[in-house]
Amino acid sequence: MDSLIERVAALQDMTPVFIALYDMDDRLRHANRAFRQAFNLADDAFPTWVEIISSNYHNKNGLIITTSDFDAWLLSAQSRRGKLPFRGLELDMHDGRWIWMTETVQTDGWMLCVGSDITALRQNQRSLRQDRDIAMRAAQTDELTGTANRRFVFTKLGVQIDNVQKGIESSFGLCVMDIDFFKSINDRFGHQGGDTVLRDFVKIAHSTIRRSDCFGRVGGEEFMLIMPRTILSECIGIVERLLEKVTSSCPFPGATDFSYSCSAGLSLYQPGESSSDLYQRADRALYLAKERGRARVEWVLE
Ligand code: GH3
Ligand code: MG
Ligand code: MG
Repeated sequence: MDSLIERVAALQDMTPVFIALYDMDDRLRHANRAFRQAFNLADDAFPTWVEIISSNYHNKNGLIITTSDFDAWLLSAQSRRGKLPFRGLELDMHDGRWIWMTETVQTDGWMLCVGSDITALRQNQRSLRQDRDIAMRAAQTDELTGTANRRFVFTKLGVQIDNVQKGIESSFGLCVMDIDFFKSINDRFGHQGGDTVLRDFVKIAHSTIRRSDCFGRVGGEEFMLIMPRTILSECIGIVERLLEKVTSSCPFPGATDFSYSCSAGLSLYQPGESSSDLYQRADRALYLAKERGRARVEWVLE
C-alpha cells in the first residue's frame, strides 16, 4: 500500500460497516461499498437523502419505512435530521438486517453516517431500543404538524449558542413567526380548519428552509426558525420567501377566496447573551411586524 489515504480507501470498501457522507444540502457525497449495496446505489450515483429514502419507500428496498403517510413521515424526519451534533438510531433493512446508524454533523452541515449491523445483538433488548426511538421521536415532535417541537428547537438554540461561545461558529439568526388573525381562521373554519392551516404553514416552511436551518412549533400558532451562520440580509431573504409562499397558499380547496398570512420578527445572536435575551429581541421585532400591518418581517438588532 502506498499511502495511508489509499489504505483507508481500500479498508472502507472492505468493511461491512456503512459509511456515508452528506453535504449541507443533504446530498450524498461519498459512500462505501457496503452502504451502496444496502441502499441499491450505483457507484456513480449521488442522490439526496430524500431521493434515497423516497426510492426505498416506493420500491420496498433498503430501509424499511413503516408509515401510512409517507409525506408526514418525511417531514418529521427532516425536521430533526442533521440538526444536532450527534445522534444514533436503529434502522430496519428490507434484507432483515438491523443497523445502528450514527450521524455526526459538522457546524457547516456536512454529516458523517456510520452504520453497524446489530442483528446479532440480543433480540430481547430490541423492543427496548425500539421503544426508546419511538419515545425520542415523540418527545421531539409536535404531534399536530409533525415538525420539531418547542423542546427540540430550544435544545438546538442552546447548542447553537454554545458553539458561538466556543468560537466554533459565527453568529446566527433567530426568527419567531406568528400566524395573523388566527382566531378568525378558527372562527370561520372551526378548530380543525385552523389545524389544517397550521399543517399548511409547516409544509411551506419546510419547503423553504435549508437543511442547516432548524424550524419548529413553539406554541399555538407560533413558530421559531434558527438560521446558523447566516447574515441579516440572508435571513431576511429566507423569511420573506417563506411569507410570500404563505400569502399565496390556498389551504382549503373548497374556499379559494381564502388566504392567510404570517408576521415574523428577526434578530441576530450577540456573543455573550442568553437564549432568552435573543428570544425577547426577536419577539419585540414580531410585535413591531404586527403593529406595522402584519404579513411582514421586522428585525431588532439591539
Ligand atoms: P394576531 O394577528 O395578533 O396574531 O391575532 P391572532 O388571532 O392570531 O392571535 P391570538 O393569539 O389572539 O389567537 C391565537 C389563537 O390560536 C387562539 C387559540 O384559540 C388558537 N390556537 C392555539 N393553538 C391552536 C391549535 O393547536 N389549533 C387551532 N386550531 N387553534 C389554536
Ligand atoms: Mg399568537
Ligand atoms: Mg397570531
